[in-house]
Amino acid sequence: METKKYVYLFGNGKAEGNAGMKNLLGGKGANLAEMNNIGVPVPPGLTITTEACVEYYKIGRDQMKTALKAQVEKGVASIEEITGTKFGDRNNPLLLSVRSGARVSMPGMMDTVLNLGINEDAVEGLAKKTGNAKFAWDSYRRFIQMYGDVVMGVAAAKGEHDPFEIALEDVKKAKGVELDNQLEVKDLKVLVEKYKEVVKKHTGKSFPIDPWEQLWGAVMAVFDSWNTVRAIVYRRINNIPADWGTAVNVQAMVFGNMGSNSATGVAFTRDAGTGENIFNGEYLIDAQGEDVVAGIRTPQQITLEGSKRWAKLQDISEEERAANYPSLEETMPVVYKELFDIQNKLEEHYKDMQDLEFTIQDGKLWLLQTRTGKRTGAAMVRIAMEMLNNKEIDEQTALLRQEPNKLDELLHPVFNKTEEKKAKQLTKGLPASPGAATGQIVFFADEAQKWAAEGKAVILARVETSPEDIEGMDSSKGILTARGGMTSHAAVVARGMGKCCVSGAGAIEIDYKARTMKVGNEIIKEGDWISLNGTTGIVYSGKIPTIDPELSGDFGHLMELSDKYATMEVRTNADTPKDSTVARNFGARGIGLTRTEHMFFEGERIKAVREMILAKNEENRRKALDKLLPFQREDFEGIFEAMHDLPVTVRLLDPPLHEFLPHEPEAQKEMADDMGVSVDYVRSLVEELGEINPMLGHRGCRLGNTYPEITEMQTRAIIEAALNLKKRGVVAKPEIMVPLIGTLEEFEKQEKVVRETAEKVFAEYNDKIDYLVGTMIEIPRAALTADQIAKKAQFFSFGTNDLTQMTFGYSRDDVNKFLPKYKELGILEHDPFEVLERRGVGQLVEMGAQKGRASNPNLKVGICGEHGGEPSSVEFCNSVGLNYVSCSPFRVPIARLAAAQAAIKKNLN
Ligand code: ADP
Ligand code: MG
Ligand code: MG
Repeated sequence: METKKYVYLFGNGKAEGNAGMKNLLGGKGANLAEMNNIGVPVPPGLTITTEACVEYYKIGRDQMKTALKAQVEKGVASIEEITGTKFGDRNNPLLLSVRSGARVSMPGMMDTVLNLGINEDAVEGLAKKTGNAKFAWDSYRRFIQMYGDVVMGVAAAKGEHDPFEIALEDVKKAKGVELDNQLEVKDLKVLVEKYKEVVKKHTGKSFPIDPWEQLWGAVMAVFDSWNTVRAIVYRRINNIPADWGTAVNVQAMVFGNMGSNSATGVAFTRDAGTGENIFNGEYLIDAQGEDVVAGIRTPQQITLEGSKRWAKLQDISEEERAANYPSLEETMPVVYKELFDIQNKLEEHYKDMQDLEFTIQDGKLWLLQTRTGKRTGAAMVRIAMEMLNNKEIDEQTALLRQEPNKLDELLHPVFNKTEEKKAKQLTKGLPASPGAATGQIVFFADEAQKWAAEGKAVILARVETSPEDIEGMDSSKGILTARGGMTSHAAVVARGMGKCCVSGAGAIEIDYKARTMKVGNEIIKEGDWISLNGTTGIVYSGKIPTIDPELSGDFGHLMELSDKYATMEVRTNADTPKDSTVARNFGARGIGLTRTEHMFFEGERIKAVREMILAKNEENRRKALDKLLPFQREDFEGIFEAMHDLPVTVRLLDPPLHEFLPHEPEAQKEMADDMGVSVDYVRSLVEELGEINPMLGHRGCRLGNTYPEITEMQTRAIIEAALNLKKRGVVAKPEIMVPLIGTLEEFEKQEKVVRETAEKVFAEYNDKIDYLVGTMIEIPRAALTADQIAKKAQFFSFGTNDLTQMTFGYSRDDVNKFLPKYKELGILEHDPFEVLERRGVGQLVEMGAQKGRASNPNLKVGICGEHGGEPSSVEFCNSVGLNYVSCSPFRVPIARLAAAQAAIKKNLN
């Protein structure tokens, strides 16, 4: 029987795969193959495909092993041939690393197992062959710890220390040393025994001796890790499909722990925090694997320049730096040069910032990984714009490379400088991910999640973070770690999330049991406020107020470029002149939604509104409305002026009147006193106006149709405001929008009131302006009868919040009772109030737009509602040919970029 090809080989400058095969080989495997193909030194190995993982979940462990066995054995034989070693041999053993690797890098996946293949015999052989018994035993103890942890599941209970770490500390203490690499052969032998006991005690099983048993255990563990809780959580946060599967990379080991001429490290071709075009990274001599990122010793900088910058940040003198923390450029200049050339070559080849992992074995450099580097929003913009300016990439590539949501980071507040100067500095760590964060400190990731869900701003402080902390990190405003460098887990993940992070703040001591953090004499307790500056690495106690950031030239360039390619306009939802100005500065081409009810709450206004609600007849209602008129007119003047020459869509009053009444007894008393009525009367009124189902009740145009004088007053305020501005030479372009219609008649009646009122005002002023009358489409019936409605309406704006609510029949305010479960069960992929649901709600939007335009070719169509600033919803709106999307001011740049990407993608298809 012919079997499917599940195993792809690489090594010796050749590979069966390449960078284009990420779906099959995973990101890591595809790039290991590619690096071989372009002449970068990579230890030989094999990649088991993602298809094998998917198949594993169908047919199970035993059958999958049978399907893979011959291919894996052949692959291992080829690695043996290239390396001149033998897997399982007692004199000349081949040791392997087993690494997971999905299509996109996923911190939730299985940790790498190094030195696989070693056992009591092989360790002796390795010692003899290399003449380095310490290295051999160090590799052995590392293997037991890693395999015990990630394959056999030895783990610490919450608040407890890792049992392997405890054993290691014991041995170090007995010996009287501080660092792992100060242990000698006999200590390491003791440690190996202790580690084996730990495994036995925690799992009830003996540690496997047979290399093949070890290998298959590790391969299957990688498959299993695809469905661990943390992998699932990561996929959910990042919208990664569950059916991709992960590849497994099995690769010959190279050793960075062979003494002072060996090292391991990570590097970036550009600065992942700022985007600056400067090679940088960290390394450790005589170390292996994740030592650099795990914060076991203080990592050293790769370049001399970086090393000097680092020393300055850490307040370390040049003498001390040169003596204790020299750069790779200084310690191993020849290897450094080779690494520098390779990073240039890789960036030129991939045409994007790369994140590299390397190991130096006895003076020989090996690359173990390259991938597109995670970066902050600021770095994302700067890198693409610089590569575009240097003609390394074209405009469309520069645009498509942006993650629209990441622009958010650039738009968000930074500390107010003067306030920051006044704040009390606690300590300083590394500026691992830029930005500012203020919050209450917590020490556990699950705590962070819980507090955040209660609406608290939290900062997660850990000795160091690990992949199971991801969800808690996501819920935090900022992350602080005591250990770890610029490439630690915390730093890398935080930059990916665009979250402020200070890492390696060595002066803090965290006590997980007591839930405190000690800095010098100061004790910070769980719940205390602290602030982090991720750009300088400074940690403060207390809260620090924030201000809006300045936007750099690269950002402006990116926005110009977006507008060049976008075909759909971006408007904003704004209710005040201030918001309108912010949005306009962010490039909004008008207002898609002004909610007038927001104008009704302040001071005197709410009294007049309540008077109107209290009114027993039209006459009294008109009196109250007359009091509101000047306020409304003034509000509109402010907004129209801020948005001069651009269209402003004003929605007539929408919410149920009940929302304007007080519900607390004290407030009811206050209202009664103000109005000169009894508290009982107010209470009875509140009850009378209460509805079982207010969102489906007396609201929207149903208000305007039952009390046309409200529509009259609002129209008058709008038209008068525009005419007043005209006198001052300011052009206002109002678009009056009738909310919540379901039938043509509902619209017609309101339109008539609007037009008649406008004519009246024109006559009074003896002047005119242009204005439009249109409607929101947010009730399914309106979308279904859009052809009729469009004969009268001059524009449609899809109110996708209500439209989603009514299409699904989910109450927006109650949906969180079941939505999380629905997502977990796979009933819904996304929150439909966040991401526009295409098949149902989207169909109504598409059909509504088509039908509307069929009967009114000049119909302007857009959406307002939260979806207008969500990239995939923007893409959908573009695909069905809407004229604009409208979103909150701070989402405007995101929507502009998303609109450009949508237009480019549409063209490419
Ligand atoms: P991750 O996906 O978490 O980065 P990797 O599979 O890249 O995990 O492995 C983590 C680290 O293990 C690497 O950075 C490297 O230092 C070490 N490592 C992996 N494979 C080898 C190998 N063949 N030889 C030496 N070290 C290796
Ligand atoms: Mg890892
Ligand atoms: Mg890696």
